[in-house]
Amino acid sequence: MKAELFNYMGDDLMVVNAARVSYGKKKTSFDEKDKKLIKYLIEHKHTSPFRHPQLQFRIECPIFVERQAFKHQVGLTANSISGRYVDFSDSYSLPQKLRLQSNDSKQGSEGFLNEEQNSELCKQIENLVDQCSELYAKLCDAGVAKEQSRVILPLCLNTQFVWTGSLAAFIHFWNLRLKKDAQQEIRELANMMLECVKNIEGNPFKHTLEAWDLDDII
Ligand SMILES: Cc1cc2nc3c(=O)[nH]c(=O)nc-3n(C[C@H](O)[C@H](O)[C@H](O)COP(=O)(O)OP(=O)(O)OC[C@H]3O[C@@H](n4cnc5c(N)ncnc54)[C@H](O)[C@@H]3O)c2cc1C
Repeated sequence: MKAELFNYMGDDLMVVNAARVSYGKKKTSFDEKDKKLIKYLIEHKHTSPFRHPQLQFRIECPIFVERQAFKHQVGLTANSISGRYVDFSDSYSLPQKLRLQSNDSKQGSEGFLNEEQNSELCKQIENLVDQCSELYAKLCDAGVAKEQSRVILPLCLNTQFVWTGSLAAFIHFWNLRLKKDAQQEIRELANMMLECVKNIEGNPFKHTLEAWDLDDII
């Protein structure tokens, strides 16, 4: 999987200036009072100021992760690679370590399959994906339209999308998808995206991210 921050707009100051317009005020630099204001906004669920900064990611991940990401809709917009236009059937996210079904959670996993079974079943998965890929190529070679040939491709096929939205929308996404009850693969993607934002030169969203305690979720 890959996550790249393509573009962004705003910083912590943009958040507090959006809040301070209530009093007709505007500041040109961020100080200790602003740190407190950010915490106050979060505590009182005054979340609209966090909707002004924008983030744009370019993401590469398997289709089953994209499906989970696209459940997040408010304040976000996405455009994906089209399997009707291009053949993107050569990149897959194959599992290396198969996880066991969780006993506590119907949706979750815990622990791993023993090594012997793991390598045998991973090999079978790889073979099956190869077969799907070969059949896809055969269908395309026979002249079948890509939009129809693709129906035999598996959910572990890697896709690409551009995902743009407000800082508030991504914070909501991180709050849900960094959590332990989210699927490991989307947790990994969420974490990669958060790291991209933390690594922006000058750390423009430092105080906002710290105040939301996102690291505590992980
Ligand atoms: C651990 C986990 C398991 C999940 N399992 C499943 C599953 O089995 N099947 C499945 O389909 N989805 C599942 N989901 C997806 C989940 O139901 C949400 O669709 C997803 O997390 C996006 O969250 P959201 O709706 O809060 O986000 P957004 O779509 O970004 O919405 C943000 C907020 O806007 C408000 N909102 C959005 N839409 C409406 C609306 N129509 N009416 C009123 N208020 C609205 C809500 O307050 C919402 O929290 C799962 C999510 C998680 C984290």
